[in-house]
Amino acid sequence: MTLRRVTILGATGSIGQNTIDLIRRDPDAYRVVALTGGRNVGQLAADAAELGAEVAVTCHESELPALRAALAGSGVEAAAGQGALIEAASRPADWVMSAIVGSAGLAPGLAALRSGATLALANKESMVCAGPLMLETARAHGARILPVDSEHSAVFQALIGEDIAAVERVIVTASGGAFRDWPVERLASATPEEAATHPNWAMGQRITIDSASMFNKALELIETREFFGLAPNQIEALVHPESLIHALVGFADGALMAHVGPPDMRHAIGFALHWPERRTLPVQRLDLAALGQMTFRPADETRWPALRLAREVMEARGLAGAVFNAAKEQALDAFIARQIGFTRMTDVVAETLDRLSARDGLDDAVIDLDKVLSADHVARVTAREVIAQG
Ligand code: NAD
Ligand code: MG
Repeated sequence: MTLRRVTILGATGSIGQNTIDLIRRDPDAYRVVALTGGRNVGQLAADAAELGAEVAVTCHESELPALRAALAGSGVEAAAGQGALIEAASRPADWVMSAIVGSAGLAPGLAALRSGATLALANKESMVCAGPLMLETARAHGARILPVDSEHSAVFQALIGEDIAAVERVIVTASGGAFRDWPVERLASATPEEAATHPNWAMGQRITIDSASMFNKALELIETREFFGLAPNQIEALVHPESLIHALVGFADGALMAHVGPPDMRHAIGFALHWPERRTLPVQRLDLAALGQMTFRPADETRWPALRLAREVMEARGLAGAVFNAAKEQALDAFIARQIGFTRMTDVVAETLDRLSARDGLDDAVIDLDKVLSADHVARVTAREVIAQG
């Protein structure tokens, strides 16, 4: 068996650690090229040494001495900073996991595509900010993108052997997050701690808060639009508190194909790791009789106005996704720092989109990395102004 060369961008995070869990179970099958992380250099160094990585990269230059010290004697190269991150992402690899959080994941993912790797895409922000650029870069370099977000993996799997032209609609499910049963009036006073507890999935803090606000689902609707090339009116969100069905694809003949599985990201990661094969994965097997029932509720756009904003962004396309995501990240920072309340996050994003949509170029059909990064920057500045103005 030939060793597969793998790189994990964002190896110290929730998705990164789940990816390492799968690789660790079969270490002889892989040669680890690069692992990247942030401030958690102890974890990064331990994993890189254990897996025999070529290089470990922290995105913070100030952490380089600590990373070097932690890697001393391991034979693993230490590197730091944005340039080193791009260099590591560009090293020849067969399979690259894109699991950095936020728009910071875009440039390293593009670098991996340019080197022709199969990109397992957990970083949904890449498709939201620059879907056409991601797809075009993959096409131009003979690379492939496989979705890792559980909903998109579910859609991808439901489409195997199907003709996309026969797809009528895609239904993306949402747990509803921490506040799905709260009275709407109470949401304004919700704290970051309350928002960061998820009923079903164990994930990073930011994405968990984004689940409570449905910004995560909003990003995923846009990601669905970009990834599968569907029209906005073909994409629906549905609240499904048990998180057992991850997505459904509806076909022209009325059939709905549902992907059912336990809420464990190792399924979607493992599917992308082994694709086009299916291999045994260490995920729980569902006992449906014991579970008894699955329930569904409408995704109420009054309770979760982020979903309404997602529709506007899906219609506008161009750089609207980059603005939406950057404003969301800024609003989330401000919420975590207790500068704004929970429901104010959507107001900040809506106001930022409004202020910037009047500007030239936001609806540019042809987008490149510079335009995306500049829209991201302008949106952050604008969102901070909106936040400061109260
Ligand atoms: P996380 O916060 O747990 O980990 C993020 C990783 O990115 C860490 O390794 C961190 O060091 C690194 N990182 C953070 N900022 C960086 C920067 N500026 N430059 C370079 N590296 C940086 O996040 P996560 O929950 O693992 O999510 C990662 C991505 O996967 C996100 O885009 C998220 O939306 C997506 N995703 C996550 C889940 C999940 O279950 N956690 C599910 C679906 C999709
Ligand atoms: Mg998801």
